[in-house]
Amino acid sequence: MEGMIFDIQRFSLQDGPGIRTTVFFKGCSLNCFWCHNPESKSGHPQLQFFRHLCTGCQACVKACSQNALEIGVDGRAVLNRDRCVVCGACAEACPAEALMICGKNQTVDEIIQVLLRDKPFYEQSGGGITISGGEPLTQADFAAELLKRCRGEGLHTAVDTAGHVPWESLEKVLPYTQLFLYDLKGVDSDKHKQATGVGQANITRNLERLSRTGASIIIRIPVIPGYNDSPEDMLRTADYLHKLQGIQCVELSPYHRLADGKLKSLGQKSDMPETAELSSEAAKALLKPFEDKNICVRYLNS
Ligand code: SF4
Ligand code: SF4
Repeated sequence: MEGMIFDIQRFSLQDGPGIRTTVFFKGCSLNCFWCHNPESKSGHPQLQFFRHLCTGCQACVKACSQNALEIGVDGRAVLNRDRCVVCGACAEACPAEALMICGKNQTVDEIIQVLLRDKPFYEQSGGGITISGGEPLTQADFAAELLKRCRGEGLHTAVDTAGHVPWESLEKVLPYTQLFLYDLKGVDSDKHKQATGVGQANITRNLERLSRTGASIIIRIPVIPGYNDSPEDMLRTADYLHKLQGIQCVELSPYHRLADGKLKSLGQKSDMPETAELSSEAAKALLKPFEDKNICVRYLNS
């Protein structure tokens, strides 16, 4: 069995407890405009072109059988995506690593070999492995197989999901998952649809069902300007979460535009607004509704 993976990040400190390795699955069931990993949205391999790295050596032009590349007037390569069939020949030829294929099929064995390299660090720090994306549960069978193998190797397992999948997908990974990092953007369905392309009913229904199984859950909320960044928005979410079991903590994370470079490399435009950083007073006001209900909450300021 193979999964479509676009990155494996070692020594991750933000995806669950301790030192972890995060496996990023390609493909997502939401379309959030603020997505930090826009290269994860498509479930297929994509060509990324970091044009600022190009030295104009022409190796890619010679390697491309589709005539999809030429040297532009500024001396750097120009990519015609309409002609590109994502074969990867240019990426192999490019000495500057300006071209890269994002996403490849990998087996459980291949991934496990990478994950086991850092087992001593997981053991010392209380860490383990996290599967993320994209939405890892769009490849639920592969995810379950990988998690099962990890548990067999004695590794702590976490699943980072936005929950917009059939319940059966969550059910498949449940026996092998020790912690869910459950992304919740808010509980207002109209706003959710506007910002992500889908309503939140399926997401909250799955969260409620998951909480009844006794699973350990950390809720992750990205703070998005104009969408869920008011204390009133957080109060509604806190009211909702207060009724659920198994919520260990709520983590709020700040909005940023770090994805702009990735969007450009994919030939896509950014429609993320420029906004000022959240002040510490404003962040405190967002934490308060949770604190008032004795829900553990933290702001990940990075
Ligand atoms: S991925 Fe293949 S088809 Fe696309 S530009 Fe590179 S060499 Fe040409
Ligand atoms: S091979 Fe790389 S560095 Fe050379 S022209 Fe192509 S993109 Fe630029």
